[in-house]
Amino acid sequence: MAGEPQADCLFCKIVAGEVPATVVRRTETTVAFRDINPQAPTHVLVIPKAHYPNAASLAAAEPLLAADLLREAGEVAAQEKAEAYRIVLNTGSGAGQTVFHVHAHILAGRGLEWPPG
Ligand code: C5P
Repeated sequence: MAGEPQADCLFCKIVAGEVPATVVRRTETTVAFRDINPQAPTHVLVIPKAHYPNAASLAAAEPLLAADLLREAGEVAAQEKAEAYRIVLNTGSGAGQTVFHVHAHILAGRGLEWPPG
């Protein structure tokens, strides 16, 4: 069923506490944790507890949960005292997505170039 935990999903295992992560915030519907391979001084991932492969499938199935994800991205940025930040939602392996459980990257603490690579 849509949104149900997937046995082979790394981020579902982080939600369940089966894989360790440095959690910085947790809500009823989301978990935010530090990326293990940070690309900026602040690099936090925000995920819904529910399993959806990407942002579009999440928004189509559960728009309020998609809103939770974006609101929580802002809360993380505020908690990290980020004056400016970037939210990245890689979608598809060609765009660099490696974990197919939707996650918003919050990047801050250095100059961020445009366009991104
Ligand atoms: O957008 P993409 O799918 O490439 O992002 C996945 C991110 O998950 C990577 O930045 C990777 O460093 C991070 N990761 C993590 N903890 C893990 C495995 C991957 O923070 N245990």
